[in-house]
This record gives sequence, C-alpha cells and structure tokens, in this order.
Amino acid sequence: MFRNLKPDIKCADIYTLDTESLRRGGVRGLFFDIDNTMEPYSTPKPGARLSEWLERLTAEGFVIGILSNARQERIAKFVGGFPPELRDRILYVYKAAKPLKKGFRKLLADAGLRAEEGAMIGDQLFTDIWGGNRAGLTTVLVTPIDPSIEPPFVRFKRIFEKPFIRNERKQS
Ligand SMILES: [Mg+2]
Repeated sequence: MFRNLKPDIKCADIYTLDTESLRRGGVRGLFFDIDNTMEPYSTPKPGARLSEWLERLTAEGFVIGILSNARQERIAKFVGGFPPELRDRILYVYKAAKPLKKGFRKLLADAGLRAEEGAMIGDQLFTDIWGGNRAGLTTVLVTPIDPSIEPPFVRFKRIFEKPFIRNERKQS
C-alpha cells in the first residue's frame, strides 16, 4: 500500500506540468481532480487561465478527463462553465470513489485508452495518487492550491499525508 502512495511526478501546480515529456512517454489522456487541483475548493466555475490551457492541450491531441469524488451537480456545473467547444470534449466521472479503480477504468474506457496511456493529476495522496497508481496510470501530485478552505474531512486526511510527503522529500 505504501508504495502505491508515491507519485511518479510532483509539481507545484498543473501549469508547471511537463506535458510534452508525458506525451513522449506515451501518455494520451490527462485526467484531473477538480478541488484544489484545477481550482480552489468548491470554486463553482473554471477560470480563463484553466480553459485556455486545456484548449491548448486538446489542440495538441490530449484527451482531457475529470475524475472527482464530488456529486454530479457539482461536476456538471463546473464542466458547464468551460467554453462550449471545450466543454463538449471533456470527459468526466463524478462520484468516482477514488481510490477505487472503477472510476479510473470508466474514464479510460470512455477515452478509449489503456491504463499506461493515462495520467492522473491531483492534490491528495489517499485518493488521486493511491487510486491512480492502483489503476496503473502515471500519477502526478500537485501542491493543493489553497488548503485553508478545505472541509474538515479533507483536512483530517492531510494529517496522515504529511509523513509520506516528508519521507519523499528526504529521499529525493
Ligand atoms: Mg482535490
């Protein structure tokens, strides 16, 4: 289990992710968590910077997916905030039950990709990274955008993430 908590890549935020090197490694689908990964927790709509970046990635041929444990209303509303051409291309799975594999598999199937062609990008070790590793995807851990406005349950989980993140810093 502990080995599965190690992300393949770590970066400060989604915008500093080297998507070109992922592509060279065979990654075709970029799957994202929303809260504190794409935008701060419970931000209702995507910002212009996010939309522009995702538009560029789809133009480069990446399939963009969203994998969130949040409810359908939340995800549908957020995705509905993207410009129409982009919105229609974004695949999403709500109530994904990360770290279970089923949501990852659904998204891969919808994208027509194999697990090794997908990358999961998220801010939580126990959902995004653990689940992505179990499902066989490349995993990318980003620093949470604003941990100060997270709900109590997420804050609680962060207590247990800390030793693992500290351990990795020591190793690298
Ligand atoms: Mg998150």
